Amino acid sequence: MSQTKVCPLCHREARVQDDYIRCEKCGEYILDEDVPSQISASLRLRSSLYFYVTQYADALKEKKIIPNFYPDPPDESEGMLFPLGPFGQKFRKMISVYSIEGLYPKDYNDRISKIMVNLANEVQFIGNTFSVKQYGDPDKSHLFFLDETYGFKTFGLQLNGILEMLEKLDFIEKHDSSTLNESTYKIAPKGWQLVQEYQQSHKTLPQGFIAMWFDPSMESAEEKIIKAIQDSGYLASIIKMKEHNNQIVPEILFEIDRSEFVVADLTGGRGGVYYEAGYAAGRDKPVIMCCRDDEFDKIHFDLKQKNGIKWTNEEDLYIRLKKRIESTIGKRSPI
Ligand SMILES: [Zn+2]
Repeated sequence: MSQTKVCPLCHREARVQDDYIRCEKCGEYILDEDVPSQISASLRLRSSLYFYVTQYADALKEKKIIPNFYPDPPDESEGMLFPLGPFGQKFRKMISVYSIEGLYPKDYNDRISKIMVNLANEVQFIGNTFSVKQYGDPDKSHLFFLDETYGFKTFGLQLNGILEMLEKLDFIEKHDSSTLNESTYKIAPKGWQLVQEYQQSHKTLPQGFIAMWFDPSMESAEEKIIKAIQDSGYLASIIKMKEHNNQIVPEILFEIDRSEFVVADLTGGRGGVYYEAGYAAGRDKPVIMCCRDDEFDKIHFDLKQKNGIKWTNEEDLYIRLKKRIESTIGKRSPI
């Protein structure tokens, strides 16, 4: 039976059943066993995950598609977050919690923009207000990406500093209903404009999509591809699905659309992988081709011209793929 508890990401009331969480703000997701304790220990992680689920994981739900995916959780030792589709049990997209930390603001501008995006999501519509307790507000710290390296005791100072600055920048304005203990704000016209500009220029994630043959014989290759993408500083997006006549489900195209690049491993010669690689190329996404050497000669002619990675073993695949991502897409700064 599900019960009412608190959403570990936004601290609102949520329906929680075992590791399955349904929150009005964050949507439906599953947190891998250790993740809740990691979130409560790290505000940096909590803020980044919250930003991910509210800005990026939700879009799938709005499409109201019933996907058909393996319901089994992946066998991974590191933390995982699983945003769920409309029929949660049937769809799991794996997101490594550690790579999501890459969404934590990198600099001043990034921080201001992401805070404003969070505040806009909080108030939802023009004219609505948000309130913050004067001397620090632990339940809302994630909205402001407060920096825990300076200690929790500085949270009140940090929060007030940010609010003051947002006010000076004309992004927010104080509302009459503020009291001594609680300040209430509205988002000002310049603030809404910033949010719109940010969202328009951030339709893609720092993410690499993996198209490959999901066969047991490819499991360690899959692991190495994920690792090469993550170690280059990107999120690795992987959707495992049952193969039904090589059917390409809309989620896959949606994920490709919002990825910066695609890694397509042609080992196994699956039609779906060729289709996904072609789709990505048509959308002007860089596609990095790979294939195990014993199957390289079977690759379709056009793709051989593309200077693919002909790998001999999984370690070789990791080293060369990482190098290729960093030289063609660019290495992102470490988290
Ligand atoms: Zn929530």
